[in-house]
Amino acid sequence: MLIAILGDVHSNREALDVVLADALSGGVRCFLQVGDIVGYGPDPGYCIERLRELDSTICMGNHDAAVLGQLPLEFFNPFARHALEWTRAELDTREKGYLTDLPLLQELPEHGITVVHGSLYQPFNFDYVRSLASARLSLLKQTSDLCFVGHTHQPCLFTMEGEELNYVSAFERDCRHRLVPGQKVLVNVGSVGQPRDENPLTAYVLFDSEKRMLHLIRLEYDIASVQAKIREKRLPEVLAERLAFGL
Ligand code: ZN
Repeated sequence: MLIAILGDVHSNREALDVVLADALSGGVRCFLQVGDIVGYGPDPGYCIERLRELDSTICMGNHDAAVLGQLPLEFFNPFARHALEWTRAELDTREKGYLTDLPLLQELPEHGITVVHGSLYQPFNFDYVRSLASARLSLLKQTSDLCFVGHTHQPCLFTMEGEELNYVSAFERDCRHRLVPGQKVLVNVGSVGQPRDENPLTAYVLFDSEKRMLHLIRLEYDIASVQAKIREKRLPEVLAERLAFGL
């Protein structure tokens, strides 16, 4: 089975549409999302609705939680806070209700998969996995073969076999990784809607559960349209500019 794992959509309709079209045309029928459907971007309601229609398995991100008032806005920088306040006013009761029902963690035991926004180490704290030390904390809590995270908006992959932990830099270069029996794998799937690895292309991960193969996919999308909408809705200019640079 082909499974698509999306991260940090951040209300970016154009990027989400390109990713979903690519995945659906490639035969994907199972969608996972590692949280942060909303925040930053101009189309929160549309992104919620599309993921809902697809019956995606989704966990809650820190921006989703903040829109609902479950996380204080003081935790966010002024630009993110501005977009969160705007999103809060923009969403209707049904859309907020959909976010409210998202759990912090999702398990797909039939595929040996766990999904969490930041880290399996205290998921409610939304910690970032950006070092071997933080990856170890998450992997020590991981009972499944595979765990997908987001939150940093930078794709990367760690493996752990026994006590031995490795950062697999080849994943970012070759965009592929085959699972090895006995190894636990922690994958950051990057961001659909606001990549921050100095590559503005939208990102998602495909997992072929039979071939046990992971594939990081990068695609072009209409950045200029998203930027125009960000400006039209008077969201902070920096949120438009950064999309062109992948920052
Ligand atoms: Zn995010």
